[in-house]
Amino acid sequence: MLASYAVRVESSLGRRYPEPPHPYRDDFQRDRDRIIHARAFRRLENKTQVFTRRLSDHFRTRLTHTIEVAQISRTIAAALHLNDSLVETLALVHDIGHPPFGHSGENALDQAMREHHERFDHNLHALRIVEHFEQRYASHPGLNLTFEVREGIIKHSHDYAPADYPELAEYLLDQRPPLEAQLIDHTDEIAYNTADLDDGYEAKLLKLEDIRRDVSIFERYYLEVEREFPTVRDKLKFNEALKRMLNHLVTDLITNTAQRIQHSGVQSVEDVRRYPERLAAFSPATDQQRAEAKQFLYRNLYHSASLRPQKDRGEKIVFDLFRYWIDFPAALPASYQRQMETESPARVICDYIAGMTDNYILDQHKKLIGKAMAK
Ligand code: MG
Repeated sequence: MLASYAVRVESSLGRRYPEPPHPYRDDFQRDRDRIIHARAFRRLENKTQVFTRRLSDHFRTRLTHTIEVAQISRTIAAALHLNDSLVETLALVHDIGHPPFGHSGENALDQAMREHHERFDHNLHALRIVEHFEQRYASHPGLNLTFEVREGIIKHSHDYAPADYPELAEYLLDQRPPLEAQLIDHTDEIAYNTADLDDGYEAKLLKLEDIRRDVSIFERYYLEVEREFPTVRDKLKFNEALKRMLNHLVTDLITNTAQRIQHSGVQSVEDVRRYPERLAAFSPATDQQRAEAKQFLYRNLYHSASLRPQKDRGEKIVFDLFRYWIDFPAALPASYQRQMETESPARVICDYIAGMTDNYILDQHKKLIGKAMAK
């Protein structure tokens, strides 16, 4: 059933610590299960996707976003005859390296690290989680994931220049990742572009008339739905139009990627890896509509004045705690203090903060900083 250019589990480059095969799960299925059973995966439930102070239990968290990405990814992988276990695994792990408070937490952490001439990168952090921080097995450190999953964690969203990341040399940085990993960045964007329109509208931060005016792919389907269901209420028309928009993006990604694969002449994973560009892509027309929706969300939701206070507060909490632990490293848990024997204090504090949930970092801030501020 797999296409010739799909990753075959029998050809996997394997695990760091060899393990005997499992009687009825292949290695990618085992990796998927290891991720679902990881603590870092469970913490996604309490990490911000867009709305930090959860205005409603209906809105996405990073966990439900991750499940949506996995669902969309499996559908596309099956249609393209790719390895859907590998795709599902990569989707489930794709956001595991995100700090609390979504992108504001990520920016604050990166800012704080720059003051110490280091950086924070959520893909690199995800790799540290699965390689080192998850301690579950007697026989090996980390989750001992297959090469293809670790490679996908690093390479799914962009390329890392080999000269800048010598520590990642084993991940074949001069080659493209397999199609299974290439899909994830696009399915992530399909999921959040549609979900954030949904949650933003539900939160009354986005207005239907603004979406219709500025997001042409939505408007196209909204008009279609109005013709078919002229009497139903706006919210149902909205839902129906959004569902059709999602379906359009998925279908376009499948058909355009299939065409690009065919025109490229790739026959094997090796060919995909050595092809000069990534083959998973939307058609130019749909890509333009995707970009338009994304820009609309940046303008009207992510950068909106209504979300500014929650973002400022998230950033301040990350900065406050980072500086507090730089000044008082003895206040860190013992295991993190031990980590400072081999790594810089800034990196250790960054790892600690990045792993926190929104709730936990709020508690820490209240306990360590809040009292001092209240005086
Ligand atoms: Mg994501």
